[in-house]
Amino acid sequence: MPRRALLSFALLLALPALAHADGGQRPEVEAAAQRLQGKVVEMRRWFHEHPELSNQEVQTAAKVAERLRALGLKPQTGVAVHGVVAVIEGGQPGPRIALRADMDALPVTEATGLPFASRVRAEYRGEPVGVMHACGHDAHIATLLGVAEALVAMKKDLPGQVMLVFQPAEEGLPPGEEGGAALMLKEGVFADFKPEAVFGLHVFASVQAGRIAVRGGPLMAAADMFEITVKGRQAHGSTPWLGVDPIVASADLIGSAQTIVSRRANLAQQPAVVTFGAIKGGIRNNIIPDQVNMVGTIRTFDEGMRQQIFKDLSNVAEHTAAAHGASAVTAIQEGYPATVNDPALTARMLPSLQAVVGADNVYEPPLQMGAEDFSMFAREVPGMFFFVGSTSEGIDPAKAPSNHSPQFLLDEKALDVGLRALLQVSLDYLHGAG
Ligand SMILES: [Zn+2]
Ligand SMILES: [Zn+2]
Repeated sequence: MPRRALLSFALLLALPALAHADGGQRPEVEAAAQRLQGKVVEMRRWFHEHPELSNQEVQTAAKVAERLRALGLKPQTGVAVHGVVAVIEGGQPGPRIALRADMDALPVTEATGLPFASRVRAEYRGEPVGVMHACGHDAHIATLLGVAEALVAMKKDLPGQVMLVFQPAEEGLPPGEEGGAALMLKEGVFADFKPEAVFGLHVFASVQAGRIAVRGGPLMAAADMFEITVKGRQAHGSTPWLGVDPIVASADLIGSAQTIVSRRANLAQQPAVVTFGAIKGGIRNNIIPDQVNMVGTIRTFDEGMRQQIFKDLSNVAEHTAAAHGASAVTAIQEGYPATVNDPALTARMLPSLQAVVGADNVYEPPLQMGAEDFSMFAREVPGMFFFVGSTSEGIDPAKAPSNHSPQFLLDEKALDVGLRALLQVSLDYLHGAG
């Protein structure tokens, strides 16, 4: 062996020890990842092949509960319809934390061509649909089950307690139903067991596999729906002066509403979006209709800006309509609040994430306009939510089929990274490191 090769070989051998002394990846994380990798992949494929829609996660919950029981845990089932919760009691005194994974799939017909692709069909809003884990929640469930198994194996020396939260219905609810994180909290999931911190992850097509994206403060948007009804007075299209035209009033209203973001929201503070997604009014060419109905979405990152936009939209609608002699009623249906990572907690846990994939592979992503009900847990206790890359090397994440696409394709490396990251974060927190 040439001298130079020998030297680099020696360096290579010395590296893991150096990295650990430097606060690198814990050896027990490495061991658990090696031991559980195959199992986590297998579990994820099973969940992938058996997706279930929001608030219908019957088989999924049963499988999760069965796995937890096999680990010697006593899962509580039926939490917020199909949620499953279990607590791992460490043998040593220490803090309480919660780890959350969402479990539901989407009304998307899978087109990945994977051997374990979903062939499941269901009914959604009265229509037959394919069902697919197109958001990658299958990976979240399998990852958390892997972390659970690793933690149980080291239970005797584990300081503190870890609550595992398998949450249903993240993707939104069938009309009239309750569920998801909000219902779990309403049912008191954090009432008896109040964690000091809550952690969660999401596999993300916009991030390359092997990398992690996280930021302190706002990460994902609040998503709220609005509905505006403009009332005029019906008349013959040939004699508009005999009626009140809600179509012209609505056109004006939509134009004026553009100034809410461009002229009133403090965009130097945080971005915001107001989008009209549908407008419906009238039936034929020569009838001025009685009313027009519009729906849209509001995205914000700051609670104050969110409340201000609600007020501004209602104000613009009311007064623009009034200027036309019409009236407008605005109804806001609040969705998920902004997902805000606790800045101190995120700064503290950053080295744990860096230890897993290397400092160069952890970066601050741009704000995400999508919403996530992890935000509800993170409103109760300090939380950190991070993205785990799922797009294979050699594919540009900017061009990869996004989450929710029928072609969303998860690189299973995300399972390994996810398991290591969540485990490292948990252990560092429980041991008071970081
Ligand atoms: Zn989703
Ligand atoms: Zn999701």
